[in-house]
Amino acid sequence: MVAKPLVAQRADPETVADPDVIVIGAGISGMYQLYRLRELGMRVLVLEAGSDIGGTWYWNRYPGARFDSESWSYGYSFSKELLQEWDWPEHFSAQPDTLRYLEYVADKFDLRKHMRFHSRVVAARFDDEASIWTVELESGERFAAPLLITALGPLSAHTLPNIPGRDSFAGPAWHTARWPHGGVDLKGKRVGIIGTGATAIQTIQTIAKDVGHLTVFQRTPNWAAPLHNRKITDEEQTRIKASYDEIFERCRQTSTCFIHATDSRKALEVSAEEREAFWEKLYSEPGFGIWVGNFQDVLTDPRANDLASAFMAKKIRQRVKDPEVADRLIPKNHGFGTRRLPLETNYFEVYNQDNVRLVDLNETPIEAITPRGIRTSAEAHEFDILIYATGFDGVTGPYDRIDIRGPGGRRLKDDWTGTPRTLLGVQAEGFPNMLMVLGPHTARGNIPRNIEEVVDWVTGLVKHMREHGLKRVEPRPEAVADWAGHVGKAVEGLLFAGVNSWQTGINRNVEGRDVLRVLGYYGGAVEYRRITGEVAAGGYREFRFD
Ligand code: NAP
Repeated sequence: MVAKPLVAQRADPETVADPDVIVIGAGISGMYQLYRLRELGMRVLVLEAGSDIGGTWYWNRYPGARFDSESWSYGYSFSKELLQEWDWPEHFSAQPDTLRYLEYVADKFDLRKHMRFHSRVVAARFDDEASIWTVELESGERFAAPLLITALGPLSAHTLPNIPGRDSFAGPAWHTARWPHGGVDLKGKRVGIIGTGATAIQTIQTIAKDVGHLTVFQRTPNWAAPLHNRKITDEEQTRIKASYDEIFERCRQTSTCFIHATDSRKALEVSAEEREAFWEKLYSEPGFGIWVGNFQDVLTDPRANDLASAFMAKKIRQRVKDPEVADRLIPKNHGFGTRRLPLETNYFEVYNQDNVRLVDLNETPIEAITPRGIRTSAEAHEFDILIYATGFDGVTGPYDRIDIRGPGGRRLKDDWTGTPRTLLGVQAEGFPNMLMVLGPHTARGNIPRNIEEVVDWVTGLVKHMREHGLKRVEPRPEAVADWAGHVGKAVEGLLFAGVNSWQTGINRNVEGRDVLRVLGYYGGAVEYRRITGEVAAGGYREFRFD
């Protein structure tokens, strides 16, 4: 029996009462999925935990938050009108501008009327006989629809550090993914920050000049390269708007959907001078070129990777005055680019400031968080404010936080204790009528590009079902097995696969998340597009329909 929902806060009451599809999440994925399904004439209900649209860009309001994709390659590509109307202020957009952009999109396409905010989904159950999903909110309200589409985002389940006494700190303590909307006054304050990932690096380089004193607690240093961000001039703006077709075509041709394509040369096959000159060039250029546009063997051959790591280590030593601090900032347990590379702006120089101190947790581990601050094995640090830049339970974490049950009460969380089993990353094995946008095993890189492709593909599948009067879709077991084999093969030989990070499913703050898993499709976006295109062209034979 499906409980009738209460009146929606903002969403159109008709849609809420009888949706064809429920989409969970109103971030970049959910917004675009809604837009596409609405084109099919479907009633779509989007349920969103936050008070408005934006997903990642709604939640992550920490100081210095911005993306590392070229702004003009990041926005939606589906509307030429939108592309011409929107002016990105910087080559790498800051969070407030990105959120403003998404709000503009939501207004322009009138998306909010299909959305219900403050609606955190905590459970989803599939009625096998009726082929209906019923989702339940934190509030206990329920909504039902034949189709469920998860647009949860790979990095939405933030995690706090599992340190004794964490909740005893007397002052304000913020996770970067729950930064207060009004900001935090850090001026002159004694601030402690835990973490040195991409988020921490942006936060540290931004707040170091304002705080009274900053102590950075580092467990694992990360390689990081300069972002080289700057404002977009009027002339550039005109040129960008005239070149969108070429920009998106270029993104389609690269395996990560960034504008940067892997160099066909091998680091080990060119002379030392040529190698050094190329790396100097990449280091001086904006964006991810140094990561995804590097020599083709840097992320696969340990010897090439060692050379790249040595180059990056030299840069850190050049930029950090104190050689001991520089040494602590150089990663020792993973090679260059084997974790998602943070891009930075004067990050390393921050450690030359008198008001900044780096604490290496490998030398002096944290023993406890106390009412006054953080106690390590060596000393007690006192703070006014604590910042947890401690990351996310990546990819599967957002799914684990919803009690998702398929036929016979089968629980997705149980199925996904190891590497998930999916078909093309759009459906989990054993969960009919649940489709995923950017769940495990889709291609990932320049995220909105990946999102648009998956959403378009999912929309094609839904359209096929509607045209053929099909009520139920699930992956065929043999197709899942083939895809699992393909996903496993694609990751072979990639150095990152053996390194602890959210990308390999490791999060030491979450019980059970200490085993390496394959959470993406790493055969590249071009290959992913080819495979999914063939499945669609072949009439989706890898799926079983009723
Ligand atoms: P992250 O890369 O997972 O970093 C989390 C940091 O917290 C790590 O340094 C981790 O240390 C540390 N940490 C976690 N628990 C700890 C504990 N109990 N004690 C001490 N240290 C602890 O997370 P993130 O920085 O939020 O970035 C996640 C991803 O978000 C990025 O890789 C990227 O994909 C995305 N992102 C993108 C941008 C951008 O586009 N510019 C910006 C920010 C984030 P260990 O490494 O030792 O675990």
